[in-house]
Amino acid sequence: QSVPQKGFFGHPKGLFTLFFTEFWERFSYYGMRAILLYYMYYSMKDGGLGLDQPTALSIMSIYGSLVYMSGIIGGWISDRLLGNTRTVFYGGVLIMLGHIILALPGSIPAFFVSMFFIVIGTGLLKPNISNIVGDLYSKEDNRRDSGFSIFYMGINLGGLLAPLIVGTLGQKYNFHLGFGVAAVGMFLGLVVFMLTKKKNLGLAGTSVPNPLTPAERKSVFGRLAIGLAVILVLGAVSISTGFLTIDRFTFMISILGILIPAAYFIVMYRSPKSTDVERSRLIAYIPLFIAAMMFWAIQEQGATILGAYADKRTQLTFGNFEIQSSWFQSLNPLFVVLLAPLFAWLWIKLGNRQPSTSKKFAFGLFFAGLSFLVMIIPAYTNGTDTLVHPMWLVLSFFLVVLGELCLSPVGLSATTKLAPAAFSAQTMSLWFLTNASAQAINAQIVKYYTPETEIAYFGIIGGLAILLGAMMLLLSPKIQAYMKGVR
Ligand code: GLN
Repeated sequence: QSVPQKGFFGHPKGLFTLFFTEFWERFSYYGMRAILLYYMYYSMKDGGLGLDQPTALSIMSIYGSLVYMSGIIGGWISDRLLGNTRTVFYGGVLIMLGHIILALPGSIPAFFVSMFFIVIGTGLLKPNISNIVGDLYSKEDNRRDSGFSIFYMGINLGGLLAPLIVGTLGQKYNFHLGFGVAAVGMFLGLVVFMLTKKKNLGLAGTSVPNPLTPAERKSVFGRLAIGLAVILVLGAVSISTGFLTIDRFTFMISILGILIPAAYFIVMYRSPKSTDVERSRLIAYIPLFIAAMMFWAIQEQGATILGAYADKRTQLTFGNFEIQSSWFQSLNPLFVVLLAPLFAWLWIKLGNRQPSTSKKFAFGLFFAGLSFLVMIIPAYTNGTDTLVHPMWLVLSFFLVVLGELCLSPVGLSATTKLAPAAFSAQTMSLWFLTNASAQAINAQIVKYYTPETEIAYFGIIGGLAILLGAMMLLLSPKIQAYMKGVR
């Protein structure tokens, strides 16, 4: 690409393709998430699966964790076998199949099959489509960051519309109708992708960066087959003997949520390909990783704890007007879309005087902590037996988005700059792991939420985030020093 393209808001035309594909993928994902919690814990009579609420909350978290964890698989497949574009396509197909299974009236086993498809499918699609965004620009092209910002808009526009459409259909009419519309959304995303990719993307995303050699293929596929067979046999035996319960499975994934990032750090640190400067940067990345984890732990509870809160603790009828509890899921993306331009302007205006990466992470934690602390107020003043005005949830979602806009847009670029060059193909997976680990831990924590424990619940988690934020702020000169020149 010698002549820079300007076909989409002054950006390469390929951004149009990626924007709308990801818009529809997120539409289907967040539409499904907006009703899934209710689908799980509503009684069978009300069209749900009749699970108890703590289990439903825990499954929501573990599901979210797996969706981002599987990005490691998607990264590997793209890097060594298929390249970004083809991996994205197969991912979209799997996601669509997952939603179709949920759209058919089904039982708990059908639900788990659908989960499997969506977990693997999103792992194939999400990190790789984001990588193609980066591929559209040459290294010197200064439109790159704004390209990612436009792409983040696509994500959040999808997340904003989905609860209003999928949520309303799902809650007012029928859950399966809602899931069906999510499937249609992913289908439309695939159509956009297939029809426009050739013309718009050109060669971006088509290469396989580090292909397996024929010899490697043999041994890798052999080991994969053995590994899969072992997992299948162990799974079948442990499910049929009743050993593998939902609780035990969840616990295993929670442990993985800690082991995987730890293993990543050790491997990167000890790799002979990493230089001394890169090792120092890795040390700096550890507190950033932990801070991001804490942030996502709170942000993602917007779809679990605050989702249940919207449904059970919030006043939803005003005269003839009835709010659907799923609509609250639109608040996070709405505030992102509204406030992102403001933040972009602020960082540009501050220029060199803008806070360092580690300080921005600290601010992210402060706002996330506040978003939970404010939820103590209605419980403290009115007790937990009366319904709460929806403005409290609006305020909470508003606060967490202030934090998200401090942390999320710089998070990926910080990962890119701090991870050793030899591991650059894994950067996207590594960043998504902050979210995966957060939700893996959430799967254990969310079980402790009840209206009776509400004040302590919001207080402890919110307080912890603020404490961590304060530590980040104190440590930030040290962290910046370890970054060796990265800001
Ligand atoms: N909500 C955003 C998305 O769905 C951010 C997720 C993340 O962990 N970076 O893309």
